[in-house]
Amino acid sequence: MKNNDCVFCQIVKGLMPATKIYEDDDVLAFLDISQVTPGHALVIPKKHYDNFVSTPKDILSKVMSVTQRISQASLTMLGAKGINVLTNVNREAGQSVMHFHVHIIPRYISDRGFQITMLKNERLSELNLPVLASEIKKGL
Ligand code: 5GP
Ligand code: ZN
Repeated sequence: MKNNDCVFCQIVKGLMPATKIYEDDDVLAFLDISQVTPGHALVIPKKHYDNFVSTPKDILSKVMSVTQRISQASLTMLGAKGINVLTNVNREAGQSVMHFHVHIIPRYISDRGFQITMLKNERLSELNLPVLASEIKKGL
């Protein structure tokens, strides 16, 4: 995808409106247009990288530092009782905007939101975990 077609690049350039929370030279944070819970925010590098995996470590560190600050503020200022911090990599994982972004999803009492256990699949309980671990370790 050309960056010109990227909706988050358009927001960075000021060509698309967004409800901004935080901005510095490298990082921008704004509210998700489609709120999963009140205060659902997105943190992005200003420069276009496709996803978490392809973002350089120094930029990743800046994005995560802002993510932590906004998470802390959501707990203290919005009355959130918990936070989900997540990022989707590629369409298979639900990524719809191909510009790296971290979701901050404040959680409230009985908000009926996502839980990781919802993704668990009983049929996978027989997997050979040591073999899977050794395959991942070979790529490190
Ligand atoms: P993904 O599914 O790629 O992890 O998340 C993309 C997120 O971007 C979605 O939650 C979607 O609501 C949000 N989004 C898409 N377009 C816009 C936009 O133009 N403005 C804002 N603020 N959020 C957007
Ligand atoms: Zn972009």
